[in-house]
Amino acid sequence: TIGMIAIDSKGRIAGGTSTNGANHKVPGRVGDSPITGAGAYVEQGVGGAVSTGDGDVMMRFVPSFHAVMLMSSGMKPDAAAKTAVAKIINKYPQFSGALLAVDMNGNMGAACNNIDGFPYTYRTSKDSEVKTVTVKCSHSN
Ligand code: ASP
Repeated sequence: TIGMIAIDSKGRIAGGTSTNGANHKVPGRVGDSPITGAGAYVEQGVGGAVSTGDGDVMMRFVPSFHAVMLMSSGMKPDAAAKTAVAKIINKYPQFSGALLAVDMNGNMGAACNNIDGFPYTYRTSKDSEVKTVTVKCSHSN
């Protein structure tokens, strides 16, 4: 899954996902990616979040919505991402996945579990090139 969050020069935020779904999925399966709040969620004036990974587990926690709600309560993106992922780990320590959160100022944070590093890219109006950050993931298995 590829998750995207964009904030334009007028401060309008949008988010979305593109996915091929899970390997060996049953016909008709709808994963987490197209479900608002699970795969992606944004709130004008607050920020946005996108998720990737084991959608059959992750969708139960609407983690993108969770992270944005935490940011709307004043939490920084990094802490919001970690808290939303920790909530899933608490019930499903074996799940593999990641979440990226960004606020309206372009501050970013990500958290992940059971994958060998989660890379995300960004570009702000001040950057001439796309930059890549790779987040270390917690491992439960
Ligand atoms: N979340 C997607 C799904 O379960 C898979 C992925 O992120 O790679 O459909």
